[in-house]
Amino acid sequence: MKKKCMVPYLILIPFFAIPSGCAYNKTSSPELLVDNQQIAITVQPETARTDCDTVVITCIDYRFAIANQEFINETLGLKDNYDHISIPGSIYNLVNPETRALLFSKFALSVRLHLINRVVIISHRDCGGYGGSTAFGSEIAEYETQTADLRKARALLLEKYPTLQIDLFLESLVQEGGETKVHFEKVL
Ligand SMILES: [Zn+2]
Repeated sequence: MKKKCMVPYLILIPFFAIPSGCAYNKTSSPELLVDNQQIAITVQPETARTDCDTVVITCIDYRFAIANQEFINETLGLKDNYDHISIPGSIYNLVNPETRALLFSKFALSVRLHLINRVVIISHRDCGGYGGSTAFGSEIAEYETQTADLRKARALLLEKYPTLQIDLFLESLVQEGGETKVHFEKVL
């Protein structure tokens, strides 16, 4: 099957796509202040192929963004080898019948265009998509709901794509030795 290549050699970031009002990080390149400036970022030559192995589904939550990238790229060894669907609530959108079709349609693109054979789903504690931790009443109730949803999402995906390998993770922010860390737990 001939697949459509969706990976560009150079990623050109339009000026208008760069946020300029971030209150936290004010170290953006001064070049971004010039109208119509084009920014070129070099990628690895092997990135410019026509398929990848995995699609990763995560929530958009900024608190987990850097840890997610390190976990996906380094811990799971998926650097340059995955599509990334980032959506508020992660697979809550798959479990919820009202938004299921939307996520399935985007997921299907990854399967069709890039012939992925593995799915990594990451959900996180205190997720705004669920209304935060307080919506559950207790930590145990939150944990049981989210792990059950992860397993339900896996079952829904396997109904349509029975040959997929699906790995589930639940992550949480933890205070440890004076530092804030993100813990990832594999959910079976
Ligand atoms: Zn979230």
